[in-house]
Amino acid sequence: MSTLDNILEEINNANTIVILTHENPDGDAIGSATALYNSLKQMGKNPDIIIPEYPRTFEFLPGADEIKKESNIEKYDLAISVDCATIKMLNGFVEYFENAKVKISIDHHSTNTMFGDYNYVSPDAPACAQVLLVVLEYFKVEITKEIGTCILTGIITDTGGFKYSGVTAETFEFVAWLLNKGINVSKVYRKVLQTKTRANFELNRLASDRLEFFENGKVAFTYITKEDEEKVNAESGDHEGIVETGRDIEGVEVSIFIRQTDKGCKVSMRSNEYVNVSDVCLLLGGGGHIHAAGVTLQCTIEQAKEKILRQIKSVI
Ligand code: 5GP
Ligand code: MN
Repeated sequence: MSTLDNILEEINNANTIVILTHENPDGDAIGSATALYNSLKQMGKNPDIIIPEYPRTFEFLPGADEIKKESNIEKYDLAISVDCATIKMLNGFVEYFENAKVKISIDHHSTNTMFGDYNYVSPDAPACAQVLLVVLEYFKVEITKEIGTCILTGIITDTGGFKYSGVTAETFEFVAWLLNKGINVSKVYRKVLQTKTRANFELNRLASDRLEFFENGKVAFTYITKEDEEKVNAESGDHEGIVETGRDIEGVEVSIFIRQTDKGCKVSMRSNEYVNVSDVCLLLGGGGHIHAAGVTLQCTIEQAKEKILRQIKSVI
C-alpha cells in the first residue's frame, strides 16, 4: 500500500479530523488548509481547521470563515498538518497534533523532519498546495471552483506570482485548467499578491530606509522592531514581502530580514542563484527551501545580524 492509500484509509476511518498549519501562516498555509477542508467535506467528513490568527487577505477563501481559534475536542482521531516542516513550527496548536490518535504531515519542505505517522512530502513542489492537488486527485476529489481557488492561492503566494524557480510545467498546466473552468486567475492574483495593506506599506518604507549592503553589495540586510509594528498598527502578515525588496536589487544574492517577535528574532532569508539559504538556516537551527528559509534566534537584532553575516560570509 502506498502512503497515499494509508492516508486515505485513515481519513475514511476517522470521525474527528483536525487540519493544522505553521505559525504566522502565509497564503500557502491557509490555501492548503482550506483546500483540504473543502475536500474532506466533499468526502463526507466534518473536519476542523484550527488557526489562531491569519492575515485578513485570505478571509475571502472558501471555508476561511469556518476557521476556529481553538477547539473543545482534546483528542482528535486524525490530525493533518499542511505546509509545516517541523512539529515546533505548529507552535500554539501542537497539542492538537500530539494528542491525535493518528498524525499526518503533507508538505513541500526539504527540511521536513517527517514528524507524522504518515508523511507525504514532495520537496520539488513549489507550494504545499501543489502537493495537495496531487493528493486530492489521487483521492478522486472533484476539484471544484472553491477548492481550485484555495490551491491557486497557495501556488501564487509561494511562487511569488509564478516567478520562482520551483515553478513546474504542472503549475502552468493546473492554472490553464483552472482558466478553462472559469476561475478568474487574475482576480485571485490581485487579491492575494498585489494588494498591500497600509501598514505593510509603512513597514516596507521603514525597512527600505534602513537597508544596508554587505559583501560588496551581494548581501542586503534590514529589520523591523516590535515598536515599528505597534506604531503602524500592524496585523498578522503585514511584514510579508519585505525580504523581497532586498533580493530584487541588482547584484544582491542574499537578502536578510529580521523581525522582532515575542519569541525572539525571526529571520527571513532569500537568495537568487547560488547560495543555499536553507543550509545556512539549518546551521542556525532553522530550515526552509534553497532560496527561501528562516530561523528564530534568541538574542538582540544586533547579535542576530552579526551571527548571520558571519555565517553568510563563508558561502557568498
Ligand atoms: P519566511 O521567511 O517566509 O518566514 O519563511 C521562508 C521559508 O522558510 C518557509 O518555507 C518557512 O517554512 C521556512 N522557515 C522559516 N522559519 C523557519 C524556522 O524557524 N524553522 C524551519 N525549519 N523553517 C523555517
Ligand atoms: Mn509553502
